[in-house]
Amino acid sequence: MLYDLHTHSSISDGILSPEALVSRAKKNSVTHLALTDHDTVGGLEAAAVAATAQGVQLISGVELSTEWRGAGIHVLGLGIDPYHPSMSETLRSQAQARERRALEIGDRLARLGIKGAFEGARRIASGGTLGRPHFARFLVAEKIVPDVETAFKRYLGAGKTGDVKQYWLTMPEVIAAITESGGVAALAHPLKYKLTLTRLRRLVGAFKEAGGAAIEVCSGKQSTSETDAAARLATGFGLLASGGSDFHSPDKPWQELGEYTSIPAQCTPIWQLWERVC
Ligand code: MN
Ligand code: MN
Ligand code: MN
Repeated sequence: MLYDLHTHSSISDGILSPEALVSRAKKNSVTHLALTDHDTVGGLEAAAVAATAQGVQLISGVELSTEWRGAGIHVLGLGIDPYHPSMSETLRSQAQARERRALEIGDRLARLGIKGAFEGARRIASGGTLGRPHFARFLVAEKIVPDVETAFKRYLGAGKTGDVKQYWLTMPEVIAAITESGGVAALAHPLKYKLTLTRLRRLVGAFKEAGGAAIEVCSGKQSTSETDAAARLATGFGLLASGGSDFHSPDKPWQELGEYTSIPAQCTPIWQLWERVC
């Protein structure tokens, strides 16, 4: 059994179509795949059809953006009913937030003399959920930066011009929507927010308090010390442990579908929720 509970398709900022994502999962021996596009469930239907055809178990997922005390935070919803009214309402609100955010990022970049970023990013997103990676690709295409990493470092990452997060629903709101739609809320990549350990522990406490059930102990390939730190958060707060690649694109070999550090034995893996006793 190989679970990958965090992946993206071209419906948000991934490169592969939902069908191609499922094919790659199959090829990489993933047995249980969660498609967790940013603030959209638009790829789940196509993914489900492909998964049935290829014998992959699809877990309906989503990655919701939120804000906690000034930090941009991501919460995974796993095993959701994507069409539950609570989820639909949440996704509508998140889509509006995304649009307002993208306009503001465009305005802020224009003030720095970078014109047409909103339109450019929207063109690159080609109808998918518009996010910072699309702005990054625009900045690369315009030769303003050499690569996507530099775009985040200079313009879009935490604390930079394009770091706009005030429009998202609150963490309790997104967790409630996930839970009401039958899913489990997992705090995504806890070590990527660059919080001090004290703030990180407060975040995890607030997450659990609001009904969060799991934490992504392993996100892609990470160091032993990162795994130990995340595992301590999971066991210390009594949260289930999730794991996934956060796969976006085949041209990032360090982030391959189905590949992530194994969850340490002291943690309780989230997949016990989907394992049937035979
Ligand atoms: Mn992404
Ligand atoms: Mn994320
Ligand atoms: Mn992600």
